[in-house]
This record gives sequence, C-alpha cells and structure tokens, in this order.
Amino acid sequence: MKNIKRSWAEPYKMKMVELLKMTNPAQRKKALKEAGYNTFLLRSDDVYIDLLTDSGTSAMSDRQWAGMMMGDEAYAGSRNFYHLEEVVKDVYGYKYLIPTHQGRGAENILSKILIKKGDIIPGNMYFTTTRLHQELAGGKFEDIIIDEAHDPENEFPFKGNVDLNKLEKLIKKHGAEKIPYVCMATSVNMAGGQPISIKNLKELRALTKKHGIRVIHDMTRVAENAYFIQQREKGYAHKTIKEIVKEINSYTDGATMSAKKDALVNIGGFLAVNEWDVFEEARNMVVVYEGLHTYGGLAGRDMEAMAIGIGESVSDGHMKARVGQVIYLGEKMASYGVPIVKPIGGHGIFVDAIKFLPHMPQDNFPAQTLAAEIYLDSGVRTMERGIVSAGRKTNGENYFPKLELVRFTIPRRVYTQAHMDVIAESAARVYDRRIKINGMK
Ligand SMILES: *Cc1c(COP(=O)(O)O)cnc(C)c1O
Repeated sequence: MKNIKRSWAEPYKMKMVELLKMTNPAQRKKALKEAGYNTFLLRSDDVYIDLLTDSGTSAMSDRQWAGMMMGDEAYAGSRNFYHLEEVVKDVYGYKYLIPTHQGRGAENILSKILIKKGDIIPGNMYFTTTRLHQELAGGKFEDIIIDEAHDPENEFPFKGNVDLNKLEKLIKKHGAEKIPYVCMATSVNMAGGQPISIKNLKELRALTKKHGIRVIHDMTRVAENAYFIQQREKGYAHKTIKEIVKEINSYTDGATMSAKKDALVNIGGFLAVNEWDVFEEARNMVVVYEGLHTYGGLAGRDMEAMAIGIGESVSDGHMKARVGQVIYLGEKMASYGVPIVKPIGGHGIFVDAIKFLPHMPQDNFPAQTLAAEIYLDSGVRTMERGIVSAGRKTNGENYFPKLELVRFTIPRRVYTQAHMDVIAESAARVYDRRIKINGMK
C-alpha cells in the first residue's frame, strides 16, 4: 500500500450552488448562429461550462460575502477604503493606493500621467487594454518578452521573462528619456499565463535603475506567478506565496491591478504607486474618470470584498488548489493528444490552434473556429486568443500574432474536477474530427 498516491483537494467546501441550464446540440447550433459564431456574443444562459475568462468570475468566500454586508457607503472616506489601503500595503508593499472600477481604469490614469506623445513603452508581451491605453496616450508599445514565449512548444519554465538585450537596444535607439516605464506583467496572459522569474526581475531592476526608468507592474495575476516561483525557482521552495509576492513587487515602482482575477472579486481594481508626485496626480485624475479617490468607481462593499479576497489569494493552500486544477485539466487534455502550450500556465489551458488545425490559414481564424466547434460539441465556452484578439492596425490590416490560441480559462473556486473531465473529453472529441473542420471568413 506504500505507493498509493496522496491526492490533495480544495481548501473549502460548498455552501450554495448555482444551477446551470443543459443544452442539446440543436439548441447550441442555433445559439451559436445567432452569436455570429463568436463565443463572446453567446448569452451566458446558453453556456454550460464557461471558460471564456477568469475575470470577475471567481466564487467569493463566506468571509467575503460577510464583508459585503459591512460596506460603508459613505461618499468620502469609507472605512472599507482604509481597510483596502492597509491590505495593499501589507500584502503587496506599495505605498499609495487609488482604487478604480477595474484594471483598465488604472491603466487609463497611469498612461495619461506618465506617457507623452512619441514615448516608447517596452513590455513583456502586449495585453489588449493595456496597449490600447498606451497608444491612446500617444505612446508606442514594444514587445521585449524572450523569444521562447512565442514558441508554444518550448518548455522553458519562465516564459514570461524580459529579454534584457531587447530592452537595451530600445534604450540605445530611443534614449532612456523616451521610455517613461517598462510595463512588466506577471503570469503573462497572452503568452499562456507564463511566469517571470525573480532572477530576471532583479536583472530588470538593475538595468532600469541604471537608466532611471520605472518598472510598472501589471500585477493582475501576481500570486499565480509567485506560486510558479515557489515550485520552480532555486531558493524559493520554502518561502510562502505572500513572501514571494512582496519580493516581486519590491523590484517595481508601481502597479496596475485587475482585482477581478487573482483577488477573487467580481469587480474592482486599483493603481498603486510608490512616488508621491504620481500619486497626487492620479488622485486628482481618478475623480474625472472613476470617482472620488477613496472609492474610485466602487461601492464600499466592493472594496471590502477586495480587501478580504487579496488576503485569501496569497494563501499557499488556495494557490495549490487553484493552479493544481488548471494543471489537472492540461495534463488530461495532453494525454488525449490535444496540442497545448507548455509548460501549463496559471489561469488556463491554451490550445495551439495552428497545430490543432494545421490545414487552416491564419486568415481563416483557426482559434475562433476551434472555440465555436468546442461550444457546439459540449456547451463549453472558450475564448479566441489569436488574430482576432490582436486587432487591426490603424490602416485596417490584420496583425498576425505568432500565437494562435484558444484559451480555456478556469474561474477560481467555481468548477469541480468532474467539470474538468467533461472539458478535456470535449476537446479530445473535436480533435478526433479536426480534419473535417473548415475555417471562417
Ligand atoms: C484583465 C487584465 C487587464 C485589464 O483589467 P480589467 O479589470 O479587465 O479592466 C490588464 N492586464 C491583464 C494582464 C489582464 O489580464
């Protein structure tokens, strides 16, 4: 009996369940047609297992719901704001907090304050709203992620790392004064939830310090990144997620946060900075775009749920179950031969649509097609992360991203292992009949 595997399970149990509508293939065919074959436009009522995004889809805990009841809905100076401010300082280590309704609200304010026309903003891969806010403020995004990140088969453990040579070249070409900050993301979303290492972060800090360039952290999934550091990086196995999160942030000057991901709430975000001047400007600007600086577009109860959720998000037990579930799904899909991005990232499984549908040109939207086929098969909704997400250039031409992926994003604390089995089996079924699948216009 010595070799019996010891399984782990979720560090919570269920108190309430949300009932789902089950659909048949004819109903799904009709729903998909009405949605223009775009899974984004489906009604969620027609979806069985919703893996569109992990954004705002988490299940809150009993404590968070209890916190909602303690919302102080004062227009100014709500006690929930002060609680949140304390938690952001304690858990994340940033000095000044400006709450916003979600991550993009923080991106808007930060971009407007720090970016001038003609500036360059290097980053470890783009994110849709982040890049757009940089462009709207007059800046230009430059990708400085390591080349490994663009190769879905490369198993490098830190595919979120910054290529310091690429950054140095940009500094040489444009001059440090044209670079207001490096936009550094943890658990790089568009690369498949791939982490950055502490070693790389330290090197990034040293280089940017030398040139007087800020590092602004897109910390939407920092705790998931910390988990991978704990599992993979030498010297971190015995540190807690909380300690690693704080260390990551210590190499940066400020952060934008979508609390709808890591922080286990359905709405919320913030901008956090260490510089007083930037804080002052942001505090004035948030009033125009979001709301007064002590609520930033949120209700008091939302800030309370966020403060409690941040604490829960950096618990080791939570993160082990969270990422463990994602890895369970990924390994099951891979065992059926479905081509997935490796190593498995923190918030979902990314299927390589180009390998899945090798007969299909990228102009025919392989990832969008695959997302539609999976919905038809099982009612599982996934999201395209490829040529459609990359958008078009100002002249109307398509960007052709190297990665053409379908994202199976796992909401936190929402689905069971049996759901994961259903998802993997559906992907396997579609994979079996892949040769018969045609593209879209
Ligand atoms: C979701 C997300 C954002 C934007 O946050 P919202 O809360 O959706 O506005 C920014 N960066 C990353 C990496 C994200 O995943």
